[in-house]
Amino acid sequence: MSEVKQKRMTKQKRVIYEVLCNTKTHPTADWIHAEAKKQVPDISLGTVYRNLQILLEDGKIQELNYGKSQSRFDGNPAPHYHFVCTKCGRVLDFAPDAPLVSEEVLAAAPGAVHSHRLECYGICRDCLS
Ligand code: ZN
Ligand code: MN
Repeated sequence: MSEVKQKRMTKQKRVIYEVLCNTKTHPTADWIHAEAKKQVPDISLGTVYRNLQILLEDGKIQELNYGKSQSRFDGNPAPHYHFVCTKCGRVLDFAPDAPLVSEEVLAAAPGAVHSHRLECYGICRDCLS
């Protein structure tokens, strides 16, 4: 690959990563694409998906897959839990000091756990008030 092309790819990846790290909204690839375009006007959605895949493989981000709806992405790769508001659709982080599911629970799995996710569904504080 040419050096120019390599540099361009690196810049695109950096912009995508920064967009993701600068939001707490757990955005979709479409949203990341729209934001990244403000800095790299000709960036394609395919490029966004490709770079998200690379960042996932590098363990720098995580993907939150909710089955039928579009995946969301999280710039924080550390294990933490999410709250999904069934009214406004927002995906929020639990408080940073919230404890994780205990080793006891994970040990009760019918196999060796290598990772786990937890989502709680309900009505967020904004929607409640
Ligand atoms: Zn809400
Ligand atoms: Mn999160």
